[in-house]
Amino acid sequence: MKTRLAVLLMLCLVSVSFAQAPERQQFIRTEAPVIALTHVRVIDGTGAAPRDDQTIIINNGKIESVGSSANAKTPANAQTLDLQGYTVLPGLVGMHDHMFFPMGGSPPMYSNMGSSFPRLYLALGVTTIRTTGSVAPYTDLEIKRLIDTGRMIGPKMHVTAPYLEGRGSFTPVMHELTGADDARRMVNYWADLGATSFKAYMNITRDELRAAVEEAHKRGLKVTGHLCSIGFKEAAEIGIDDLEHGLMVDSEFVPNKQPDQCPPGAAVSTSLRQLDLNGTAAQETIRSLVAKNVAITSTLPVFEAAGAALSQSGIGAASALLNPRVLNVMSTDTRVRYLQARARVSPETNYVALLRKAMEFERAFVQAGGLLIAGLDPTGNGGIVAGFGDLREVELLVEAGFTPIDAIKIASLNGAKFLGENSRIGSIVPGKQADLMVVKGNPATTIADIEKVEIVFKDGVGYDSEKLIQSVQGLVGIR
Ligand SMILES: [Zn+2]
Repeated sequence: MKTRLAVLLMLCLVSVSFAQAPERQQFIRTEAPVIALTHVRVIDGTGAAPRDDQTIIINNGKIESVGSSANAKTPANAQTLDLQGYTVLPGLVGMHDHMFFPMGGSPPMYSNMGSSFPRLYLALGVTTIRTTGSVAPYTDLEIKRLIDTGRMIGPKMHVTAPYLEGRGSFTPVMHELTGADDARRMVNYWADLGATSFKAYMNITRDELRAAVEEAHKRGLKVTGHLCSIGFKEAAEIGIDDLEHGLMVDSEFVPNKQPDQCPPGAAVSTSLRQLDLNGTAAQETIRSLVAKNVAITSTLPVFEAAGAALSQSGIGAASALLNPRVLNVMSTDTRVRYLQARARVSPETNYVALLRKAMEFERAFVQAGGLLIAGLDPTGNGGIVAGFGDLREVELLVEAGFTPIDAIKIASLNGAKFLGENSRIGSIVPGKQADLMVVKGNPATTIADIEKVEIVFKDGVGYDSEKLIQSVQGLVGIR
């Protein structure tokens, strides 16, 4: 009896561990050693002008050639997709792309969305992510392993360690550091396990940040921060590599800001409203970030969601805040919670002026030579969902005044550059991995077309966007 039970149990386990393979097949649109994408418009992610009627040859997961369809020689064994009317863009490199989602509660809780988020990121064209802070780091590292070995469907992952937060965290999903030694211990512990970046948080002290940066840099790893207790210029001096959220969270312009103290949010907003972007203080910050090679991660969607519904297509467009495709992947509870949060948003036009200023800051930073990278930040009031938010970020970069071509470059090649992966991913260039998204229409003239994703290639395997989205209907907020 005992042995029969053991055998039965083993059989169950075996069938579970092999369950991925047949399931994977149903999401694959195109898989062949050689694939030809013909008659397609190419936006290559380098900032170059779009090219019409191109043929891309994919060979064993890599881009072999890109050229005009008139001159292209399609190999006889190629599986050919005629993509007239479509545009191919590089897969996006999402640089503030958490695996977790806000669950509400007081104090607020956050849960990993290990089932829905990997599929949604990939479905909407995000082929590489940096998790930029983790609330379930062992899970994130295991999910990465499962994706890398083909047992789960999702993007390439760069796992960030748990948050490096000081005393005073607003949520119990973060460990509170007890000092510089604790910061060193945490960095080395998670680096040993496979974390490739670290994220400092709002209450970290300068000593703790300095210790974390030192340990991370010794190992060739990078530190980013969503800061508050430390201003941008101070953080640049300490050696931070990246600043999340841009101007909206820079506390250094608060009058009489105390060292190592996070001023109240209202004080930060007030100081930013009064800030003159052309004045010496703001210009000096931009100059010192650029001089110290500090990147900025733009996360406009999470800020847009915090404001009122305002316009047809710009900031606060109802089509973005109440996008039915986004509402449909949420669980009922999540959807209700988000819609209630939206109902409480006050129609304050001041906030939009502040967001506009943050957008201008990002443009000024790029004009000064800074590296701007992009993400969505699926937190806030629960309206920002994996993948969908990444596409909205590109649209909001255009709203900020970047050309569609530059916005796409910020969301693809710039991220790859920051990760040190730009020789392999981030643009459509022969020799790179075939990480591509195929969209209907022409995002170079109508940026909203970027939402019309139909096929996403990761290492030359073409996934069906809509089927992946359908497979996680109602799951966001549950798993
Ligand atoms: Zn975040």
